[in-house]
Amino acid sequence: MLKGKSAVVTGSTSGIGLGIARAFAGQGVNLMLNGFGDAAEIEKLRAGLTAEFGVKVLYDGADMSKGEAIAAFMKKAADGLGGVDILVNNAGIQFVSPVDEFPEAKWEAIANINLSSSFHTIKAALPGMKQKGWGRIVNIASAHGLVASPFKSAYVAAKHGQVGLTKSVALEVAEAGITVNAICPGYVRTPLVENQIADQAKVHKMSQEQVIREVILAAQPTKKFVEVEEVAALAVYLCGDMAKSITGTSIAIDGGWTAR
Ligand code: NAD
Repeated sequence: MLKGKSAVVTGSTSGIGLGIARAFAGQGVNLMLNGFGDAAEIEKLRAGLTAEFGVKVLYDGADMSKGEAIAAFMKKAADGLGGVDILVNNAGIQFVSPVDEFPEAKWEAIANINLSSSFHTIKAALPGMKQKGWGRIVNIASAHGLVASPFKSAYVAAKHGQVGLTKSVALEVAEAGITVNAICPGYVRTPLVENQIADQAKVHKMSQEQVIREVILAAQPTKKFVEVEEVAALAVYLCGDMAKSITGTSIAIDGGWTAR
């Protein structure tokens, strides 16, 4: 059902975004990749997806912290792919600090990348989706879009904001054949989390294994990381026809974390 559609996945050079891009490619979806990294590695990734799945794959490294760059990025995607049917707002960063010591620049970067970029991409994507009478927007929020943890004020605020944006836009476009949903993963073992494991091990003077069980997965009842492929499969499901009545919602995929 998704074969021949086109998708923009922000922050898709790594982790969850890359997993979602792969899953879409497997469904025959043409792609615009985005994110940072080594140019040669990214080209290998791009060409590899095309070779493996026979879909068109473009890449643009637009910085999702820069609102003005996002409109141009979205136009490039629409021009190159014949419109944007599916938009996955996934790019995100983390920074951990007590709020009274939180660096202003980090606050702004998190607010821009984890929240405002979704506003800019959605604003650019909606006119084309409305014209086609079909669209899917999937915002990769977090369990931290539903509940808080200390020392992650910017991240928690931005992810709660992304959940609010999801609801509001879903209501606006409900009659236009467009759904808007948020996926709220618990801990997924990606580079974003690998860095936290290393940092926390130093802070707590623990081994990395201890940090994983006693700090990182303390709130996750299954005591297991969520797999990238599980999040990607949920994103694919939300874009399918059987999910056309699911809109304005936030789906936790968090090993029971937010059931507490
Ligand atoms: P990751 O670090 O592996 O990937 C992040 C991606 O975003 C990379 O491709 C990176 O290049 C890109 N990116 C970062 N800053 C960017 C910018 N300014 N402009 C464009 N691209 C940028 O992280 P991940 O764990 O895969 O996280 C992906 C999303 O999932 C994030 O929004 C994150 O908050 C969310 N999330 C992650 C977890 C987890 O446990 N890993 C849990 C819940 C939610």
